[in-house]
Amino acid sequence: MPQDSPGLIEVALPVPLFQTFTYAVDPLIRVPVIGSRVVVPFRNATEIGICLGPASPAALPRKVRSIIDVPDVEPVLSANMIALCQWMADYYIVPIGLALRTALPGALAGATQPQPKRKTHRIVRIRADLPTLLEREKVFARAPQQRAVFELLESIGGRSTLEHLMEKLSFSSSVLRGLEKRGLIVIEAEVVDRDPFATRPSGAPDRHSPTAAQTAAIAAVTAAKPGDVFLLNGVTGSGKTLVYIEILKHLVNERGKTGIVLVPEIALTPQTVDRFRAVFGDDIAVLHSALSDGERYDAWLALKRGEKRIAVGARSAIFAPLENLGAIIVDEEHETSYKQGETPRYHARELAIVRARLEGAVVVLGSATPSLESWANAESGKYTLLNLPDRVGGGRLPQIDIVDLRRRGGPDEPREGPASPAYAYVIRDELDSALEAVLGRHEQSILLLNRRGYSSFVLCSECAAVVTCPNCSITLTVHSAPERLLCHYCGHQEAPSQVCKRCGGRTLRQRGLGTQQVERLLSDRFPSASIARMDVDTTSGKWAHAEILDRVASGEVDILLGTQMIAKGLDFPNVTLVGVVDADTGINLPDFRASERCFQLLSQVAGRAGRGPKGGRVLIQTRVPSHHAVQCAVAHDYAKFVTEELEGRREPVYPPVTRLANVVFSGLRENETQRLAAGASERLRRAVASYGDQISVIGPAPCPIERVKARWRWHLLLKSTNPALLTRACRFLVERLDVPKDRSQLRVALDRDPVSLL
Ligand code: ADP
Ligand code: ZN
Repeated sequence: MPQDSPGLIEVALPVPLFQTFTYAVDPLIRVPVIGSRVVVPFRNATEIGICLGPASPAALPRKVRSIIDVPDVEPVLSANMIALCQWMADYYIVPIGLALRTALPGALAGATQPQPKRKTHRIVRIRADLPTLLEREKVFARAPQQRAVFELLESIGGRSTLEHLMEKLSFSSSVLRGLEKRGLIVIEAEVVDRDPFATRPSGAPDRHSPTAAQTAAIAAVTAAKPGDVFLLNGVTGSGKTLVYIEILKHLVNERGKTGIVLVPEIALTPQTVDRFRAVFGDDIAVLHSALSDGERYDAWLALKRGEKRIAVGARSAIFAPLENLGAIIVDEEHETSYKQGETPRYHARELAIVRARLEGAVVVLGSATPSLESWANAESGKYTLLNLPDRVGGGRLPQIDIVDLRRRGGPDEPREGPASPAYAYVIRDELDSALEAVLGRHEQSILLLNRRGYSSFVLCSECAAVVTCPNCSITLTVHSAPERLLCHYCGHQEAPSQVCKRCGGRTLRQRGLGTQQVERLLSDRFPSASIARMDVDTTSGKWAHAEILDRVASGEVDILLGTQMIAKGLDFPNVTLVGVVDADTGINLPDFRASERCFQLLSQVAGRAGRGPKGGRVLIQTRVPSHHAVQCAVAHDYAKFVTEELEGRREPVYPPVTRLANVVFSGLRENETQRLAAGASERLRRAVASYGDQISVIGPAPCPIERVKARWRWHLLLKSTNPALLTRACRFLVERLDVPKDRSQLRVALDRDPVSLL
């Protein structure tokens, strides 16, 4: 320890307090290095904290408690990782202890068991050779079963797992124990790495040579300076993955660096991972939220020890414990799932840029439809723009046509043909004929409807009341098989009622389409077609996602129907038709990003069509065909969309023209919640008055969804083009605001750079 503070260290604890804590180090305990975990007493419990270094003797509390244990020999967090967490704590205004906890795998966070258990399996190994037949006859004279096991072990190389022998080959434990007692075999524990992706065959690598545009992009990135950021704007099917792979090959294989590849959670399929595994094999570690704590820890450990050099994962993979980082790739950088929805509400794209700067790595942000934020940064020269304007292999972007849902047709207007009136209302003639033709040619179709369930709400035809959740200001969605009403916000479930709860009326009607209903209508219309549905309800199992996609890849599925899940990354050359059942879900949400989301989703899903030599087409059913998001998607015109959308973000001003923070006040009682919001905004307005129009405070107002999980919600928006000023204002609010502790359970949540204002 440095002499200035003998035996005292500063510790960050994962508690919601904006401070660190001083502890004494008992002379008999190993002195912790910066970044290692310490087990400490805190209040009446023990906690795991991170040692931040020697304590400054100035602010010594009266009574210093001693640390209990230092479980790690090596620090779990490098100096760079601590710096990254410090940035996250400062920018998003969260306590440093919570930021540090976020950067570590869950398995390292338990104070009761600081050392995570590794998984072991029992191995049976031959211990003594029996070279001659004579010996064998003698040893096994009375034990033919033992001989059988022994010779089987010999024939498979002298070892096997115990499980294999007992379960697959059904040898009994008494036979094995007999062999062990006689010293012929040993049974011992062996640590195994839990890598659920390891058992998947990885297939052959892409052997294409890069196109001219790909080559230019690869050259620019591999020649970049540390900390440089590139925006790779490549249309769907332009071969962005090959660019990522070539960059990683150069940095990892030739220059001995490491890399992180971030992909959106729902695109983190085995199919995506396979493309990287095919090139980098065992160098890849996959960090997936569906992994168990143990599996995640094993992957983390392999990266930390340098056994694996490339981390592929969703948002939290930005904290992969790699040293000597060469590149961070953020695929589909516009995806909102890169923003964490709870404290700390960080954006992985922002952290990627900060981490790269700290570690001297480069960043590649890839997208066919970059976020307006990244586009603005490329225009201002902060990022370098790289373009892949064409599909590879001479493929063209698919022709997109609009089907106007306002044009005739309705449940009361039956038409000729095999289809039911309900089907004809949902899938209009043009889309129906296209589906039929594609089925006839044994090609495949993808249908998008971004709403799960059967119907989106239940309406009383007498009093027009809709059935809403008792805890949230949201309608309940009808789900079939089993039939129930479900809240997509809080999970509340109830049985469908036969009568209106408000007026007692007996004619309740279901309105609004969900994927379950479209699936049923389709299977009635095309009884011999194989239809797969992919949404949150069909993909709850760990591999469910992968199984559906494998079936599509093998050609077994004729029509893949799903929510936005099917819009990302899928590369199936036999898909020649993409249909959007209803483009308007979400387009009118009271959120300044609603158009941007709609444009991105339509462009992404359209990009699934015509990726092979057979080409493809796209049909979009909509009630707002002249909406600029729809128009620009149809024209494949990203540049036009951005120009128009940026114009719309000036008045009222929204990102990327300004910076935004959303402060949400919530509580069990409406009055108290509103009062808290009003009081906070008044204090804040007074505090920032001297900054004039450099910062504006808007609200308070009820959130668009004013009640969620029984909590009333009010919010306040802060806008400024000056990020430092915004930080100061947010800090003032979070640190100075007195939140009364009463039965209302009031809370304040700060969301900096929010991706949604609902
Ligand atoms: P994106 O992510 O840009 O939509 P992908 O990376 O999925 O596109 O690539 C689309 C398809 O093009 C893939 O099947 C890929 O193997 C193929 N591909 C990529 N680069 C080349 C190339 N230089 N020559 C031929 N095919 C390529
Ligand atoms: Zn609810």
